[in-house]
Amino acid sequence: MSWQRVRGHEALIEGFRRVVERGRLAHAYLFVGPQGVGKHRFAVELGRTLLCEQPPGSLQACEECPSCVQLDAGSHPDFLDVARPADVLEFPIELMRSVCDSFALKSARGRGKVVIVDDADDLNAESANCFLKTLEEPPPRSVLILIGSSPERQLATIVSRCQVVRFAPVPDALVAQLLAEQGVEAAQVPRLVRLGRGSPGLALQLADPDLWQMRAKLLAGLTGKPGDSVELSKAWMTFVEEAGKESSAQRTRAALVLRLLIDFLNDALVVASGGTPRRTDPAEHQLLHQLAARQTPERLLTLLDRCLEADEQIDRRVQLVLLVEALLDSLSQQLPV
Ligand SMILES: [Zn+2]
Repeated sequence: MSWQRVRGHEALIEGFRRVVERGRLAHAYLFVGPQGVGKHRFAVELGRTLLCEQPPGSLQACEECPSCVQLDAGSHPDFLDVARPADVLEFPIELMRSVCDSFALKSARGRGKVVIVDDADDLNAESANCFLKTLEEPPPRSVLILIGSSPERQLATIVSRCQVVRFAPVPDALVAQLLAEQGVEAAQVPRLVRLGRGSPGLALQLADPDLWQMRAKLLAGLTGKPGDSVELSKAWMTFVEEAGKESSAQRTRAALVLRLLIDFLNDALVVASGGTPRRTDPAEHQLLHQLAARQTPERLLTLLDRCLEADEQIDRRVQLVLLVEALLDSLSQQLPV
């Protein structure tokens, strides 16, 4: 059954099943929720079931009919799945126009159209307006699915015309199971589950051993004497650039490193406040205690704040190299033990 690919969102599947059975499917949905919880996969499966020509049951796809086969091959004329190109920060108007034009055409296989627009957070006013115009006269049986992180990141006009569907974080036990299924070493799983905070996609990204090597290098550099932030910035940027030429791939990688740094500072804050950090290896335990002995919780909070601010900016237009340099400069002045 097609929905087997979607993990951890059973209540939403049921919800859509009831909506479809009652013939109440809306023309436009806005899927929101944390990155990596499976919103896009859900949208594809929903599209598959809506377009299937021999549905075996309520909101199910047969996986064998021409529609199902074409969808898997990426050649279904009535299924369009687009995202912001990786090398730009905003959803290009030209792309949105072509999406809208194709949506307006008659359904080629006669079961309506399904259009998925990922990265809806990055729609600019022009693209959003183009999209809204399309919504005014949707072709029959057609569904547009926008995918974003939260309704707050969208234009009010978009939110008011779409049914908002909220995706919750996935339970930790399921994240652990998914990591194991992906071949992640058992010893790494608890730490990755904690860091993933309900996002299997994020937990899996964080399983990359190169990230942990980069983390070790950063921590050694930041807590050693004297802190050389310029060298560390170079190392961080080289690591980030190895993710590929596209800006979004680089920003994603920079954000993953930052997440590990934030997690470490959180542990240091726990120790400085008299608490016990979560399971860490003995060498790191010692480092945390050395750090906590020299830092007040207030100062660690300020540093954490600085990291969180950088985390906010990483998706914006701030130049990555400037962001990394400024952050490491302030951390390297404060952190040496
Ligand atoms: Zn089918």
